[in-house]
Amino acid sequence: MPAPNFDVIVSLAKRRGFVFPSSEIYGGMAGFWDYGPLGVELKNNIKAAWWRHMVTLRDDVVGIDAAIIMNPRVWEASGHVAGFSDPMVDCRNCKLRFREDDLKGPPSEIACPSCGTRGSLTEARQFNLMFATHVGPVAEDASVAYLRPETAQAMFVQFDNVATSMRRKLPFGIAQIGRSFRNEITPGNFIFRLREFEQMEMEFFVHPRDEDEWFTRWVDERHRWWTDVLGIGAERLRLRPHDPDELSHYSRQTTDIEYQFPIGWSELEGIADRTDFDLRAHAAASGKRLEIFDDASGEHLVPFVIEPAMGVDRAVLTVLVDGYAEEQLATEKRVVLRIRPSLAPVKAAVLPLLRNRPELVERARRLTADLKPLVSAQYDDTASIGKLYRRQDEIGTPFCVTVDVESLDDGAATIRERDSMTQERVSMDLVPQRIADLVAGRTAWEGVPREAPAP
Ligand code: ATP
Repeated sequence: MPAPNFDVIVSLAKRRGFVFPSSEIYGGMAGFWDYGPLGVELKNNIKAAWWRHMVTLRDDVVGIDAAIIMNPRVWEASGHVAGFSDPMVDCRNCKLRFREDDLKGPPSEIACPSCGTRGSLTEARQFNLMFATHVGPVAEDASVAYLRPETAQAMFVQFDNVATSMRRKLPFGIAQIGRSFRNEITPGNFIFRLREFEQMEMEFFVHPRDEDEWFTRWVDERHRWWTDVLGIGAERLRLRPHDPDELSHYSRQTTDIEYQFPIGWSELEGIADRTDFDLRAHAAASGKRLEIFDDASGEHLVPFVIEPAMGVDRAVLTVLVDGYAEEQLATEKRVVLRIRPSLAPVKAAVLPLLRNRPELVERARRLTADLKPLVSAQYDDTASIGKLYRRQDEIGTPFCVTVDVESLDDGAATIRERDSMTQERVSMDLVPQRIADLVAGRTAWEGVPREAPAP
């Protein structure tokens, strides 16, 4: 099935409680979206999968959680105050603003893409994408600070604290998950380009001679994470090395991981070779030595940095788009989110077949309570069983458990698997462990490829 259009995903996301327009009752706000009850679970699961693979399971990466507002000198040294900008043109007629590189021709010759007026576009001006604010009670020049446009700089300015307190030797990495802010000129495509978003970035510090080897290794590892951990179809993913003229000012080589969305191939993650640019810039601006002792050569050196940097919101979007399927069943059509059980917001839904039988309801509620300590579980009796299945399929719940009249006699319930729709009768005492094992990939459901258990 071809990838669904964004409007299909936007509508599902809203209808089922994944993502809502920010401040919607006031008309929303461009570039800002809110995660609803299911969206926050999905997003948390993606973040947990990243943290587990990048930090918990490794012994060469540690994490931090830094403040969003940093000393503004950070952004002067990093080059963001001077250079983090896009060329922008305004339409004098309709007042809308465009990125010059989105226009199909020079501003003086073409018509405004929105109102169509010729000759109405201004010359391009550089527009800094950082949000400025004031710290303290007085809004004066001296109090200007910025909301961080990337999480990476905290890893550079805390390099020495982390290396020293954690007694690190090269190579080692510092990882962080957190909010970033960019005053994007043209936000859009749902949660693809936001003004407030979340990033997961890791700065891996290596001996300069090992730069190329580690760059290649991280490109491979990160690609594998998207396919093997997030379960994204490899045929819709590609690696795209940057041309020399599109490299950022700090980068010697960069490869993007791109996904084939309905809007075309688009960046999910960039793996950048940042050399020693940032550490040297901060050392020069702060007057501090940002070096590490290298046992092999017996000298202090400024390490090089390989950085895998991705957007959490783009991962959420990719999981939704890639997992979305419409299937024609014998008598009806169903929408199903075929996402990894480990990512699904709800792992098990317990559904009593008859909601007007108190003993059934009571038994189903007890089963839900037994499931909850092991996996996220939900009790639902608000519709007919067919409707309940459809609702759970649409939010990607891998297992539904129905409690029926027979359950009261034989103490068993029926587990139904989302993708195959096959069923299995299991003693209710064993249901929680069975589902926990299936979700964790410790056992397989017949006919359904098993999610690789974490190494
Ligand atoms: P783009 O070219 O799409 O503007 P970028 O190359 O500027 O992105 P980076 O600075 O490399 O992006 O940031 C690393 C990651 O952060 C990106 O791969 C993307 O997943 C995410 N990201 C960057 N900008 C945004 C945004 N405005 N909204 C959502 N995610 C973003």
